[in-house]
Amino acid sequence: MRVNFYNFEQLHNNELQQKILSRFEEIVTSNGFVEGKYNLSFEERFAKIQQAKQALLVANGTDALEIALQAYDIKPNEKVGIAAISFFATAECVLNRGSIPVFIDIDPSTGLMCPESLKRILAKHDLKAIIPVHIYGLPAPIEMLEKICHERDIKIIEDGAQGQGGFYQERKTPIGSSNNLTTFSFYPTKNLGAFGDAGALTTHDSELAATIRTIRNHGRSQEGHTLIGRNSRCDHLQAAVLDAKLDKLEEQNQMRKLVAKKYLEALSSTPLELVDSSYIDSSSWHLFPVRTKTKEEKIKLIEHLEANNIQCRLFYEKSLPQEAPLKHFEGEVEKANHFADTTFTIPMHPFLTDDEIRFVAEKVKNFFK
Ligand SMILES: *Cc1c(COP(=O)(O)O)cnc(C)c1O
Repeated sequence: MRVNFYNFEQLHNNELQQKILSRFEEIVTSNGFVEGKYNLSFEERFAKIQQAKQALLVANGTDALEIALQAYDIKPNEKVGIAAISFFATAECVLNRGSIPVFIDIDPSTGLMCPESLKRILAKHDLKAIIPVHIYGLPAPIEMLEKICHERDIKIIEDGAQGQGGFYQERKTPIGSSNNLTTFSFYPTKNLGAFGDAGALTTHDSELAATIRTIRNHGRSQEGHTLIGRNSRCDHLQAAVLDAKLDKLEEQNQMRKLVAKKYLEALSSTPLELVDSSYIDSSSWHLFPVRTKTKEEKIKLIEHLEANNIQCRLFYEKSLPQEAPLKHFEGEVEKANHFADTTFTIPMHPFLTDDEIRFVAEKVKNFFK
Protein backbone atom coordinates (compact mmCIF):
# COMPACT_ATOMS: atom_id res chain seq x y z
CA MET A 1 0.00 0.00 0.00
CA ARG A 2 1.03 3.59 -0.67
CA VAL A 3 -0.39 6.49 1.38
CA ASN A 4 0.06 9.84 -0.31
CA PHE A 5 0.14 13.11 1.58
CA TYR A 6 -2.39 14.74 -0.77
CA ASN A 7 -4.99 13.36 -3.16
CA PHE A 8 -5.69 15.72 -6.06
CA GLU A 9 -7.11 12.93 -8.26
CA GLN A 10 -10.23 12.60 -6.16
CA LEU A 11 -10.41 16.28 -5.22
CA HIS A 12 -10.34 17.36 -8.87
CA ASN A 13 -12.59 14.61 -10.15
CA ASN A 14 -14.20 14.51 -13.57
CA GLU A 15 -17.31 16.36 -12.48
CA LEU A 16 -15.28 19.30 -11.13
CA GLN A 17 -13.00 19.30 -14.18
CA GLN A 18 -15.98 19.57 -16.52
CA LYS A 19 -17.49 22.38 -14.51
CA ILE A 20 -14.22 24.32 -14.47
CA LEU A 21 -13.50 23.73 -18.15
CA SER A 22 -16.87 25.12 -19.13
CA ARG A 23 -16.25 28.20 -16.95
CA PHE A 24 -12.81 28.65 -18.55
CA GLU A 25 -14.40 28.48 -21.99
CA GLU A 26 -16.93 31.10 -20.93
CA ILE A 27 -14.17 33.41 -19.65
CA VAL A 28 -11.91 32.91 -22.67
CA THR A 29 -14.70 33.58 -25.16
CA SER A 30 -15.96 36.63 -23.26
CA ASN A 31 -12.44 38.06 -22.67
CA GLY A 32 -13.31 38.85 -19.05
CA PHE A 33 -10.00 38.13 -17.37
CA VAL A 34 -9.94 40.32 -14.24
CA GLU A 35 -12.48 41.03 -11.51
CA GLY A 36 -15.30 39.20 -13.26
CA LYS A 37 -18.61 37.81 -12.11
CA TYR A 38 -17.00 34.80 -10.40
CA ASN A 39 -14.90 37.16 -8.25
CA LEU A 40 -18.11 38.80 -7.04
CA SER A 41 -19.93 35.50 -6.61
CA PHE A 42 -17.06 33.98 -4.66
CA GLU A 43 -16.57 36.99 -2.39
CA GLU A 44 -20.24 36.99 -1.47
CA ARG A 45 -20.45 33.26 -0.84
CA PHE A 46 -17.13 33.04 1.01
CA ALA A 47 -18.13 35.91 3.35
CA LYS A 48 -21.31 33.98 4.17
CA ILE A 49 -19.41 30.76 4.89
CA GLN A 50 -16.90 32.51 7.16
CA GLN A 51 -19.70 34.62 8.74
CA ALA A 52 -17.96 37.89 7.93
CA LYS A 53 -19.60 40.99 6.44
CA GLN A 54 -17.11 41.14 3.59
CA ALA A 55 -14.56 38.94 1.88
CA LEU A 56 -11.96 40.41 -0.48
CA LEU A 57 -10.06 38.30 -2.98
CA VAL A 58 -6.37 39.08 -3.52
CA ALA A 59 -3.53 37.46 -5.45
CA ASN A 60 -2.22 35.15 -2.68
CA GLY A 61 -2.12 34.59 1.07
CA THR A 62 1.14 36.46 1.59
CA ASP A 63 -0.26 39.56 -0.12
CA ALA A 64 -3.32 39.24 2.12
CA LEU A 65 -1.04 39.53 5.17
CA GLU A 66 0.91 42.48 3.75
CA ILE A 67 -2.30 44.24 2.75
CA ALA A 68 -3.71 43.67 6.26
CA LEU A 69 -0.65 45.37 7.76
CA GLN A 70 -1.08 48.32 5.39
CA ALA A 71 -4.86 48.53 5.95
CA TYR A 72 -4.23 48.71 9.71
CA ASP A 73 -1.63 51.42 8.99
CA ILE A 74 1.24 49.55 10.66
CA LYS A 75 4.26 51.65 9.78
CA PRO A 76 7.85 50.81 8.92
CA ASN A 77 10.00 50.37 12.04
CA GLU A 78 6.97 49.58 14.19
CA LYS A 79 6.98 46.20 15.94
CA VAL A 80 4.66 43.31 15.11
CA GLY A 81 4.42 40.22 17.33
CA ILE A 82 4.30 36.98 15.39
CA ALA A 83 3.85 33.35 16.42
CA ALA A 84 7.25 31.64 16.37
CA ILE A 85 5.83 28.58 14.60
CA SER A 86 4.44 29.23 11.14
CA PHE A 87 5.15 29.22 7.43
CA PHE A 88 7.85 31.75 6.46
CA ALA A 89 5.30 34.19 4.98
CA THR A 90 4.04 35.18 8.45
CA ALA A 91 7.44 36.80 9.12
CA GLU A 92 8.11 37.84 5.53
CA CYS A 93 5.04 40.09 5.34
CA VAL A 94 6.26 42.08 8.37
CA LEU A 95 9.73 42.55 6.88
CA ASN A 96 8.43 43.47 3.44
CA ARG A 97 6.35 46.15 5.13
CA GLY A 98 9.58 47.46 6.69
CA SER A 99 8.27 46.65 10.17
CA ILE A 100 10.09 44.62 12.84
CA PRO A 101 8.98 41.12 13.83
CA VAL A 102 9.12 40.10 17.50
CA PHE A 103 8.65 36.41 18.22
CA ILE A 104 5.95 35.23 20.60
CA ASP A 105 6.45 31.69 21.89
CA ILE A 106 3.90 28.95 21.40
CA ASP A 107 1.86 26.54 23.47
CA PRO A 108 3.98 23.36 23.31
CA SER A 109 0.92 21.13 22.93
CA THR A 110 -0.48 22.93 19.86
CA GLY A 111 2.05 25.26 18.23
CA LEU A 112 -0.38 28.18 18.72
CA MET A 113 0.62 31.65 19.99
CA CYS A 114 0.86 31.60 23.80
CA PRO A 115 -0.99 34.48 25.56
CA GLU A 116 1.39 34.32 28.56
CA SER A 117 4.39 34.74 26.28
CA LEU A 118 2.65 37.70 24.62
CA LYS A 119 2.18 39.34 28.03
CA ARG A 120 5.87 38.94 28.85
CA ILE A 121 6.87 40.35 25.45
CA LEU A 122 4.60 43.36 25.96
CA ALA A 123 6.50 44.26 29.12
CA LYS A 124 9.56 44.83 26.91
CA HIS A 125 8.26 45.71 23.45
CA ASP A 126 5.78 48.24 22.12
CA LEU A 127 3.82 46.12 19.63
CA LYS A 128 1.41 47.75 17.17
CA ALA A 129 -0.06 44.47 15.94
CA ILE A 130 0.19 40.72 16.43
CA ILE A 131 -0.24 37.91 13.91
CA PRO A 132 -1.50 34.73 15.57
CA VAL A 133 -1.64 31.77 13.18
CA HIS A 134 -4.33 29.10 13.06
CA ILE A 135 -1.56 26.63 12.48
CA TYR A 136 -2.43 23.14 11.16
CA GLY A 137 -6.04 24.40 11.26
CA LEU A 138 -6.13 24.58 15.07
CA PRO A 139 -7.85 27.77 16.24
CA ALA A 140 -5.48 30.20 17.98
CA PRO A 141 -6.76 31.42 21.38
CA ILE A 142 -8.19 34.62 19.85
CA GLU A 143 -10.57 35.37 22.73
CA MET A 144 -7.65 35.47 25.19
CA LEU A 145 -5.37 37.39 22.82
CA GLU A 146 -8.11 39.97 22.24
CA LYS A 147 -8.39 40.60 25.98
CA ILE A 148 -4.68 41.40 26.10
CA CYS A 149 -4.59 43.47 22.90
CA HIS A 150 -7.77 45.51 23.03
CA GLU A 151 -6.94 47.44 26.19
CA ARG A 152 -3.63 48.42 24.59
CA ASP A 153 -5.04 49.16 21.13
CA ILE A 154 -2.93 46.48 19.46
CA LYS A 155 -4.35 45.25 16.15
CA ILE A 156 -4.80 41.53 15.51
CA ILE A 157 -4.26 40.01 12.08
CA GLU A 158 -5.27 36.35 12.08
CA ASP A 159 -3.26 34.23 9.66
CA GLY A 160 -6.02 31.84 8.63
CA ALA A 161 -4.15 30.35 5.65
CA GLN A 162 -4.60 26.90 7.22
CA GLY A 163 -7.72 27.71 9.21
CA GLN A 164 -10.48 27.68 6.60
CA GLY A 165 -13.11 25.26 7.95
CA GLY A 166 -12.09 25.78 11.58
CA PHE A 167 -13.97 27.45 14.44
CA TYR A 168 -12.94 29.62 17.41
CA GLN A 169 -12.72 27.50 20.56
CA GLU A 170 -14.89 29.71 22.79
CA ARG A 171 -17.20 31.47 20.33
CA LYS A 172 -17.69 28.43 18.09
CA THR A 173 -18.09 30.69 15.03
CA PRO A 174 -15.97 30.19 11.88
CA ILE A 175 -12.38 31.44 11.67
CA GLY A 176 -12.67 34.78 9.89
CA SER A 177 -15.86 35.90 11.69
CA SER A 178 -14.09 37.90 14.42
CA ASN A 179 -13.69 41.67 14.57
CA ASN A 180 -10.06 41.32 13.47
CA LEU A 181 -8.73 41.12 9.93
CA THR A 182 -8.33 37.49 8.93
CA THR A 183 -6.27 36.36 5.97
CA PHE A 184 -6.66 33.21 3.89
CA SER A 185 -4.50 31.48 1.30
CA PHE A 186 -5.94 29.45 -1.57
CA TYR A 187 -2.62 27.87 -2.55
CA PRO A 188 -3.55 24.51 -4.15
CA THR A 189 -2.73 22.39 -1.08
CA LYS A 190 -4.92 24.37 1.36
CA ASN A 191 -8.40 23.22 2.42
CA LEU A 192 -9.76 25.43 -0.37
CA GLY A 193 -7.24 25.62 -3.20
CA ALA A 194 -7.14 27.45 -6.53
CA PHE A 195 -5.36 26.04 -9.62
CA GLY A 196 -2.51 28.39 -8.78
CA ASP A 197 -2.29 31.34 -6.41
CA ALA A 198 -5.06 33.26 -4.72
CA GLY A 199 -5.89 34.59 -1.26
CA ALA A 200 -8.49 36.59 0.63
CA LEU A 201 -9.21 38.74 3.67
CA THR A 202 -12.39 38.83 5.73
CA THR A 203 -13.69 41.68 7.87
CA HIS A 204 -16.85 43.15 9.40
CA ASP A 205 -15.53 46.68 8.89
CA SER A 206 -16.73 48.22 5.60
CA GLU A 207 -14.22 51.06 5.85
CA LEU A 208 -11.34 48.58 6.11
CA ALA A 209 -12.87 46.58 3.25
CA ALA A 210 -12.92 49.70 1.07
CA THR A 211 -9.27 50.40 1.93
CA ILE A 212 -8.32 46.82 1.02
CA ARG A 213 -10.14 47.12 -2.31
CA THR A 214 -8.18 50.30 -3.00
CA ILE A 215 -4.83 48.79 -2.00
CA ARG A 216 -5.24 45.66 -4.13
CA ASN A 217 -5.94 47.74 -7.26
CA HIS A 218 -3.02 50.21 -7.37
CA GLY A 219 -4.50 52.51 -4.74
CA ARG A 220 -7.37 53.31 -7.03
CA SER A 221 -10.75 54.27 -5.59
CA GLN A 222 -13.71 56.17 -7.04
CA GLU A 223 -11.85 59.45 -6.57
CA GLY A 224 -8.81 58.23 -8.52
CA HIS A 225 -5.50 57.05 -7.05
CA THR A 226 -5.81 57.91 -3.37
CA LEU A 227 -2.91 55.92 -1.90
CA ILE A 228 0.12 53.84 -2.89
CA GLY A 229 -1.23 50.35 -3.32
CA ARG A 230 -0.09 47.40 -5.38
CA ASN A 231 -1.39 44.97 -7.94
CA SER A 232 -2.93 42.14 -5.99
CA ARG A 233 -6.04 41.40 -8.02
CA CYS A 234 -7.26 37.83 -8.24
CA ASP A 235 -7.58 36.43 -11.77
CA HIS A 236 -11.10 35.71 -12.96
CA LEU A 237 -9.97 32.17 -13.88
CA GLN A 238 -8.85 31.46 -10.30
CA ALA A 239 -12.03 33.00 -8.90
CA ALA A 240 -14.05 30.72 -11.19
CA VAL A 241 -12.16 27.67 -9.84
CA LEU A 242 -12.61 28.74 -6.22
CA ASP A 243 -16.29 29.48 -6.72
CA ALA A 244 -16.81 26.03 -8.27
CA LYS A 245 -14.95 24.29 -5.46
CA LEU A 246 -17.07 26.00 -2.79
CA ASP A 247 -19.94 23.63 -3.55
CA LYS A 248 -18.15 20.66 -1.99
CA LEU A 249 -16.00 22.48 0.56
CA GLU A 250 -18.06 21.92 3.68
CA GLU A 251 -18.55 18.24 2.89
CA GLN A 252 -14.79 17.84 2.38
CA ASN A 253 -14.00 19.60 5.66
CA GLN A 254 -16.39 17.18 7.41
CA MET A 255 -14.52 14.31 5.78
CA ARG A 256 -11.23 15.70 7.17
CA LYS A 257 -12.80 15.77 10.63
CA LEU A 258 -13.80 12.13 10.33
CA VAL A 259 -10.28 11.17 9.24
CA ALA A 260 -8.87 13.08 12.22
CA LYS A 261 -11.20 11.27 14.65
CA LYS A 262 -10.13 7.91 13.28
CA TYR A 263 -6.44 8.85 13.42
CA LEU A 264 -6.76 10.04 17.04
CA GLU A 265 -8.36 6.74 17.98
CA ALA A 266 -5.98 4.54 16.02
CA LEU A 267 -2.87 6.33 17.33
CA SER A 268 -3.98 6.81 20.94
CA SER A 269 -2.15 3.71 22.14
CA THR A 270 1.19 4.81 20.62
CA PRO A 271 3.82 7.00 22.36
CA LEU A 272 3.13 9.79 19.84
CA GLU A 273 1.82 13.05 21.27
CA LEU A 274 -1.35 14.02 19.42
CA VAL A 275 -3.60 17.06 19.17
CA ASP A 276 -5.98 17.13 22.15
CA SER A 277 -9.41 15.72 21.31
CA SER A 278 -11.04 18.99 22.46
CA TYR A 279 -10.00 20.30 19.03
CA ILE A 280 -11.92 17.69 17.03
CA ASP A 281 -14.79 20.01 16.14
CA SER A 282 -12.87 23.30 16.11
CA SER A 283 -9.88 22.42 13.91
CA SER A 284 -10.09 22.65 10.13
CA TRP A 285 -7.77 19.61 10.07
CA HIS A 286 -5.66 21.15 7.33
CA LEU A 287 -2.79 18.99 8.59
CA PHE A 288 -2.39 16.20 11.12
CA PRO A 289 0.64 16.99 13.30
CA VAL A 290 2.21 14.41 15.64
CA ARG A 291 5.07 14.79 18.10
CA THR A 292 7.86 12.51 19.23
CA LYS A 293 9.97 12.73 22.39
CA THR A 294 13.18 13.75 20.62
CA LYS A 295 14.44 15.01 17.28
CA GLU A 296 16.36 11.73 16.68
CA GLU A 297 13.18 9.74 17.24
CA LYS A 298 11.31 12.00 14.81
CA ILE A 299 13.90 11.52 12.06
CA LYS A 300 13.95 7.74 12.50
CA LEU A 301 10.16 7.46 12.57
CA ILE A 302 9.84 9.51 9.36
CA GLU A 303 12.43 7.25 7.70
CA HIS A 304 10.47 4.19 8.81
CA LEU A 305 7.15 5.54 7.52
CA GLU A 306 8.64 6.70 4.20
CA ALA A 307 10.25 3.26 3.77
CA ASN A 308 6.71 1.88 4.08
CA ASN A 309 5.42 4.25 1.37
CA ILE A 310 3.73 6.62 3.79
CA GLN A 311 4.45 10.21 2.75
CA CYS A 312 5.30 12.54 5.63
CA ARG A 313 6.06 16.27 5.65
CA LEU A 314 8.19 18.38 7.98
CA PHE A 315 5.84 21.21 8.88
CA TYR A 316 7.99 22.85 10.21
CA GLU A 317 11.57 21.68 10.22
CA LYS A 318 12.65 24.94 11.87
CA SER A 319 10.89 27.51 14.00
CA LEU A 320 10.75 30.96 12.34
CA PRO A 321 13.53 32.34 14.62
CA GLN A 322 15.78 29.49 13.39
CA GLU A 323 15.48 30.57 9.74
CA ALA A 324 18.65 32.35 8.58
CA PRO A 325 17.09 35.71 7.57
CA LEU A 326 15.16 35.91 10.87
CA LYS A 327 17.85 34.89 13.35
CA HIS A 328 18.72 38.34 14.66
CA PHE A 329 15.20 39.37 15.70
CA GLU A 330 14.15 39.36 19.35
CA GLY A 331 11.46 37.48 21.22
CA GLU A 332 10.74 34.21 23.02
CA VAL A 333 11.66 31.09 21.07
CA GLU A 334 12.49 28.20 23.40
CA LYS A 335 9.28 26.17 23.18
CA ALA A 336 8.97 26.85 19.47
CA ASN A 337 12.45 25.46 18.82
CA HIS A 338 11.68 22.24 20.69
CA PHE A 339 8.30 22.02 18.95
CA ALA A 340 9.94 22.25 15.51
CA ASP A 341 12.48 19.59 16.52
CA THR A 342 9.83 17.04 17.48
CA THR A 343 6.82 17.71 15.23
CA PHE A 344 5.97 16.36 11.79
CA THR A 345 2.79 15.71 9.82
CA ILE A 346 1.32 12.49 8.44
CA PRO A 347 -0.98 12.22 5.39
CA MET A 348 -4.19 14.25 5.75
CA HIS A 349 -6.84 14.85 3.11
CA PRO A 350 -10.59 14.26 2.86
CA PHE A 351 -10.30 10.97 0.98
CA LEU A 352 -8.08 8.90 3.29
CA THR A 353 -9.65 5.44 3.60
CA ASP A 354 -10.08 3.36 6.75
CA ASP A 355 -7.52 0.92 5.33
CA GLU A 356 -4.98 3.69 4.83
CA ILE A 357 -5.54 5.06 8.34
CA ARG A 358 -5.15 1.56 9.80
CA PHE A 359 -1.99 1.01 7.74
CA VAL A 360 -0.40 4.24 9.01
CA ALA A 361 -1.27 3.37 12.63
CA GLU A 362 0.10 -0.15 12.21
CA LYS A 363 3.42 1.14 10.88
CA VAL A 364 3.71 3.67 13.70
CA LYS A 365 3.10 0.85 16.21
CA ASN A 366 5.72 -1.35 14.51
CA PHE A 367 8.27 1.40 14.92
CA PHE A 368 7.77 1.70 18.66
CA LYS A 369 7.82 -2.11 19.28
C1 LIG B 1 0.27 29.04 2.88
C2 LIG B 1 0.50 29.95 4.00
C3 LIG B 1 0.73 31.33 3.82
C4 LIG B 1 1.02 31.96 2.47
O1 LIG B 1 0.08 31.80 1.52
P1 LIG B 1 0.49 31.94 -0.04
O2 LIG B 1 -0.87 31.89 -0.69
O3 LIG B 1 1.36 30.79 -0.38
O4 LIG B 1 1.14 33.24 -0.21
C5 LIG B 1 0.83 32.15 4.93
N1 LIG B 1 0.73 31.65 6.17
C6 LIG B 1 0.53 30.34 6.40
C7 LIG B 1 0.41 29.86 7.81
C8 LIG B 1 0.42 29.45 5.33
O5 LIG B 1 0.24 28.14 5.57
